[in-house]
Amino acid sequence: MTDEQHKTPMLDDLEQGPWPSFISGIKRLRDQHPDKRVNGVANDLLGQLEHSYETRKGYWKGGTVSVYGYGSGIIPRFSEVGATFPASREFHTLRVQPPAGNYYTTDILRQLGSSWERWGSGLVTFHGQTGNIMFIGASTENTQHFFDEINDYGFDLGGAGPCVRTGMSCVGAARCEQSNTDEMRVHRTLLNNFTDDVHRPALPYKFKFKVSGCGNDCMNSIERSDFSIIGTWRDDMKVDQEAIAGYLKTKGRQYLIDNVVARCPTNALSLSDDDELLVDDRNCVRCMHCLNVLPKALSPGDDKGVSILIGGKRTLKIGDLMGTIIVPFMKLETEEDYERLVELAEETIDFWAENGLEHERCGEMIERIGLVNFLEGIGVEVDPNMINEPRTSSYVRMDDWEEEAEKWFHRKAEESQAAA
Ligand code: SF4
Repeated sequence: MTDEQHKTPMLDDLEQGPWPSFISGIKRLRDQHPDKRVNGVANDLLGQLEHSYETRKGYWKGGTVSVYGYGSGIIPRFSEVGATFPASREFHTLRVQPPAGNYYTTDILRQLGSSWERWGSGLVTFHGQTGNIMFIGASTENTQHFFDEINDYGFDLGGAGPCVRTGMSCVGAARCEQSNTDEMRVHRTLLNNFTDDVHRPALPYKFKFKVSGCGNDCMNSIERSDFSIIGTWRDDMKVDQEAIAGYLKTKGRQYLIDNVVARCPTNALSLSDDDELLVDDRNCVRCMHCLNVLPKALSPGDDKGVSILIGGKRTLKIGDLMGTIIVPFMKLETEEDYERLVELAEETIDFWAENGLEHERCGEMIERIGLVNFLEGIGVEVDPNMINEPRTSSYVRMDDWEEEAEKWFHRKAEESQAAA
């Protein structure tokens, strides 16, 4: 350690213990990186953090930083103790959109790393909670340089603030046998269409798209996105009875009964006397449990498509909300299918932009105005398959309500007469 290095006894403590420490990572940048500028930034960052721990106060404040033509994508951070720690006095974070499905070549990862070490602190989060690559710690001037450089080879800033946010999609059809749709194409089609709304925050609040290829929902889209696209199938699931026999041989009958048949939430599975796995497909709710336990024997059917759920979000005002199924099943094969998907997203965002209150997520607006009004607003017919909990219907038929009530009163009157 050199004389100019800040003493960090409290941070040093954080390096103890079994897990990798972010402090060790920053120290590596301070001590081992060949660029003196990067060493200095890491040193002052550690100095400010130690100072924060000593005084139990945070010293980062926000502000406004952007690159030309953009209104969002950068989280500004200015230090209130910049005079003492000048190298990290401006420490902005750039949110950069990852490729759909998070597929990178190692070359492009190196290129991103080099660009960031040239213009920033060297600290990166792959990926943050928002789905973005978080490049943490650039000065105001270097923010523009870094953006120009990575934009040249195809990367763009993500969303921050009240706008369409960076989308996320699971690893999908390229590597997962449960996939029911082209996740990357859905992701790219939607996000490319809403590029303006990503870069210019003009909505009531954030709006997120997430795409999962099956009901396992690896992207948590049902609970973390306003517009969730989940792959599913509507014909019968495929059962390979030979593979079932293999599982019976290796795992045993009791294992299959306890871990597959008994755990189907809708009792749609049974094991016949001659040890065939029978599926009652009309009652299967595509929860994916049996397919996950017996991946060699069970797979999605051939008639694949997606379900669309709207209104999921984390806590905020009215507590966590799961998305509600607005489109129970939709094919996504032709250009027209994709156009319909984009149209639905546009209708949803337009209606919410007009009717949502400031700082109100789409799901919160639906709770406030009612699902039926929302559906009318986006031009979608009410359908009993639009559910927000499995096995429940969100709707009650009211058209012959009075006649049914009359019948009930008659029946009650007859029963009491009979009892008398
Ligand atoms: Fe049952 Fe789920 Fe398997 Fe369907 S996918 S049969 S609901 S366990």
